[in-house]
Amino acid sequence: MDATVNINPLIKKHHIELRSRIRHFAETEIESLAKELDEEATFSKSLTKRLGEMGLFGISIPEVYGGKDLDTLSYIIAVEELARVDSSQAATVAAHNSLGIVPIFNYGTEKQKRHLLPSLTSGDYVWAFGLTEADAGSDATGVKTIAELRDGYYIINGSKLFITNSASVCSAGVTALTITGEKEGKKKFSAILVERQSEGYIAEPIRNKMVWRAADTGKITFRNCKVPKENLLGEEGKGARIMLEIIDGGRLSIAAIGLGLAQGAFEMALEYAKSRHQFNQPIGKFQSIAFKLADMETKLELARNTLYKACWQKDSNLPYAKEAAIAKLYCSEIAKEIADEAVQIFGSYGLMKDNKIERFYRDQRILQIGEGTSEILRVLISRHLGL
Ligand SMILES: Cc1cc2nc3c(=O)[nH]c(=O)nc-3n(C[C@H](O)[C@H](O)[C@H](O)COP(=O)(O)OP(=O)(O)OC[C@H]3O[C@@H](n4cnc5c(N)ncnc54)[C@H](O)[C@@H]3O)c2cc1C
Repeated sequence: MDATVNINPLIKKHHIELRSRIRHFAETEIESLAKELDEEATFSKSLTKRLGEMGLFGISIPEVYGGKDLDTLSYIIAVEELARVDSSQAATVAAHNSLGIVPIFNYGTEKQKRHLLPSLTSGDYVWAFGLTEADAGSDATGVKTIAELRDGYYIINGSKLFITNSASVCSAGVTALTITGEKEGKKKFSAILVERQSEGYIAEPIRNKMVWRAADTGKITFRNCKVPKENLLGEEGKGARIMLEIIDGGRLSIAAIGLGLAQGAFEMALEYAKSRHQFNQPIGKFQSIAFKLADMETKLELARNTLYKACWQKDSNLPYAKEAAIAKLYCSEIAKEIADEAVQIFGSYGLMKDNKIERFYRDQRILQIGEGTSEILRVLISRHLGL
């Protein structure tokens, strides 16, 4: 897809300019590093700084907090362009914006915003969102991390697993979903901002991942971790609602990673189909290969329209939870299908570590699991149908 062509009525001039700028950045500054960072499972502090300098941290929040004040579609196009080249960097940006910065901006007090957001938009630090635990994956009510209020401080105990942007030197802290007591026999969930330097905060990287190997995934343990009660995000007992609202927005960015990854895989497969000869002709001339590519292009067109329309609904202040779920479900599933068919087009060469498509084939797999598995998204969409 040509970055300079307007392919959708929702796309405006500033979207085209942004796409060209991020594409150039991804191709000139990320592409050459992506293979080695993936192989060595290394989170790059300097590349993270560059992502910040490119204005990708806080892209949709006001300039007064260091953001760029752009619309959702701009953010989504930026994530899409990063994932077209490297999903790990796209994941760092998506998690930091949708799950790190946006909750603080949407629910934080002015004091919390002034304290945290300028450093989180600079590129020096990233912020994480801690929902998942050993017994809490799809079912957030399984959260066991507990925060007890004593003498003006929350004392937090528990641990969070698989948390993006939580364990590298750039990680400044986490918004943790905790239990803060009970109301009418039901657990009261609250979101608490926990800075990394807090007493009793232990962050460790999780290694040996199949996916997003150059992104920072960690485990956070809170051992009598002490934070001032002013670190409560939003109201006490509203944590579950905050989490659900945040994840609706997060799903758009996971969908964007799926779309960008699928676009990158498609472009690689198309180029190869034109250059690889068997039986004295390019393999793309065989109908079975040409039809695979035609199906890929069709899926990309549908995915892009679905995702951009969901962004438009969000920016128009219309309900968008169902559309975000549909976009995330569809974009993540076509990423799987397109990466798989791309490997098929490459034949054995696609199975080699040296071939970029191998990384894309692995990286797509998290997209049907994180921020609502494909099964849970179908449950959610069917509920919107009254089922
Ligand atoms: C690289 C990476 C980064 C991540 N980043 C973060 C992060 O930043 N913050 C965070 O909080 N978490 C993060 N996660 C965790 C991720 O969001 C969870 O793993 C995900 O929500 C699924 O939870 P689970 O793995 O416990 O699976 P489970 O919930 O145990 O599900 C297992 C299987 O059962 C199915 N299942 C469960 N319930 C139902 C149901 N009701 N109906 C039908 N099927 C069902 C699921 O669809 C799935 O197939 C990350 C994970 C990874 C791998």
